[in-house]
Amino acid sequence: MRGGTVAVVGGSIAGCAFATAAARAGAGEVVVLERTRGRLEDRGVGLCIHDERAGELRASGALPEGIAAHRLERRRWVVRDAAAEGGRVIWEQTFPFHSYHWGLLWRGLRESVPDSVVYRQGEAVTGVAAIATGSAGAGVRHADAEVRAAGAEVRLAGAVVRPAGAEVRLAGGSVERYDLVIGADGYRSVVREAVCPESRPHYAGYVCWRGNFDAARLAELGGGVDPVPDAVTTVCFSGGTCVIYRIPGPDGPRVNWVLYAPPPRDGGLRFDDPTSFPPGGLTPELAGHLRALLDREFPAYWGRALALTDPADTFVQPIYDLESPRTAAGRLLLAGDAASVVRPHNTSGAAKALQDATALADGWRRCDSFEELVLGYEDARGPAGRELVALARRLGRAQVEQTPVWADMDGRGMEAWWQGQLAGAPGIGGRAMAP
Ligand SMILES: Cc1cc2nc3c(=O)[nH]c(=O)nc-3n(C[C@H](O)[C@H](O)[C@H](O)COP(=O)(O)OP(=O)(O)OC[C@H]3O[C@@H](n4cnc5c(N)ncnc54)[C@H](O)[C@@H]3O)c2cc1C
Repeated sequence: MRGGTVAVVGGSIAGCAFATAAARAGAGEVVVLERTRGRLEDRGVGLCIHDERAGELRASGALPEGIAAHRLERRRWVVRDAAAEGGRVIWEQTFPFHSYHWGLLWRGLRESVPDSVVYRQGEAVTGVAAIATGSAGAGVRHADAEVRAAGAEVRLAGAVVRPAGAEVRLAGGSVERYDLVIGADGYRSVVREAVCPESRPHYAGYVCWRGNFDAARLAELGGGVDPVPDAVTTVCFSGGTCVIYRIPGPDGPRVNWVLYAPPPRDGGLRFDDPTSFPPGGLTPELAGHLRALLDREFPAYWGRALALTDPADTFVQPIYDLESPRTAAGRLLLAGDAASVVRPHNTSGAAKALQDATALADGWRRCDSFEELVLGYEDARGPAGRELVALARRLGRAQVEQTPVWADMDGRGMEAWWQGQLAGAPGIGGRAMAP
């Protein structure tokens, strides 16, 4: 298929990858609509991509070469122990991942977007609607339940109509029309509202505190602990876990950490809806709760290490998940976190977003029409997203909601506990795409 106009709503990891995929595959005009006005690079946090997924994504062209990454090889699960500053290691597993700095990964993807793509910042999309052509030939605008199946023909008020495009409404009031609209607008997606309005992010019952600091500062801690650069440390405590690993940074290596635990009960905070607590707000209650948790539960070394984090580099984010029943409708497609919100324990979000973009590019090259493209995308990516959500839910339950008595666990017990979470899945970090 060649030609056609495409709008990508959101210009983050998924948005850049989809814009590149559509332009390279032959779309005539590709526009990215990103609401952020300032620098996106500054959102910097760490994330990891499984080595096998990264290899596949580099081969497909979705992951550009040359983006800074830090090699990780193993993951050590540790518990507080009076006899060991750095904690007692209860299990070590292989961890074939590379870690990335969000800003550097985004910059690499952004620089790969072909010049033909128009990337517009400061463009907030307030709504989208699919457009269908009725049997009488008249244009019919719709966003109702009857036309949400991703088929070529759909029924609207009893008449057969064909998807004919989609409209995007911008905050300034203007309306733009495209042949295909891709929702790469994250976990609070506006495009998802039109594709499956019944789907709502579900609060997992806990939050993550996350932060990062200059890795050189570890030297200040002294002591006999050797924080091996290629190891991820997972600190285990009753009611949560904290994952700590190195990432590359714009000014040298950094230590990135993500601590999952329930928020304080009496903080008066509401997380039942994603709009009730925007990511980022570190209230005095949440800062105090974190400090107490580090003192009470952490091996001394790791408690002191996390305390090196500048408060300005410490964030809180409620954990949600969302399993959407469909990832496409008419001429609307969902990508990355807009399509499925996966709890971060699965370390798969960035890889999944890039795989979604690969599926679009493959489909575009194979298909003769947008209808075929949309149906093929749904078949390829819908089940993959739902599988990731289910796996990450099991990981979250085991690692935060129903933690074992860690101090009683040994290597064999941990291995069995881990396999129980995988429940037959080959591992975390996402699966290879079907050929
Ligand atoms: C704590 C944490 C740890 C994680 N760790 C990992 C990991 O180890 N490995 C991994 O692979 N993934 C990880 N992830 C997930 C990963 O960051 C995302 O899954 C991935 O970046 C895909 O994001 P996205 O581009 O789909 O959405 P987002 O990054 O959320 O981007 C959405 C974009 O759309 C824009 N936007 C939103 N609404 C509108 C609108 N109405 N109009 C215009 N623009 C709009 C936003 O400004 C934003 O730029 C982690 C996530 C978290 C929170």
